[in-house]
Amino acid sequence: MKKQEAFSDMHERARRLIDREQVEGLTPEESRWLHDHLAGCEACSACSSSTESALRALKSVSVAVPPGLASSTTLKVREEAAMLRQRRARNLWLIAGCAASWMAGVASAPLVWRGCEWVGTALALPRIVWELGFLSWWLVPAAAVGLVILWIRTRAEGEDLNGLLEAGRRSNKG
Ligand SMILES: [Zn+2]
Repeated sequence: MKKQEAFSDMHERARRLIDREQVEGLTPEESRWLHDHLAGCEACSACSSSTESALRALKSVSVAVPPGLASSTTLKVREEAAMLRQRRARNLWLIAGCAASWMAGVASAPLVWRGCEWVGTALALPRIVWELGFLSWWLVPAAAVGLVILWIRTRAEGEDLNGLLEAGRRSNKG
């Protein structure tokens, strides 16, 4: 019974020394004792190598991950800021274009109205016909502008989606 206790104490001492070897190092005497024990004890030897490989993995993880993670996060933030600026500029141009086309429409409306009236009178058309002609002159550009806005929106959404996919692919790789 007493002998077995001493035996298990020996293994416990070996495990303690294995841990200390990794953290603070051992005296030459302790180191010699440990290596003698490890040479004769399979269990403690396995424990030692698994501790070593676990520590090695931990070290390589703690060194490799944060810089890669940080740089990919910075890149993503920068890309998103650029995308936002681009989208804002695009919206500004869209608003300017709409305003310009609207002003041009308003400015030329009396002229077009008079033109329609003249054509209607000359061709002896019913008033409703040339009035509809004037209305369609109003409606066609509005419809065209609406289509252009729709097209730009769809394209922008496609670009955003591509950007997201690209970023996801890159973060998966890194
Ligand atoms: Zn042992």
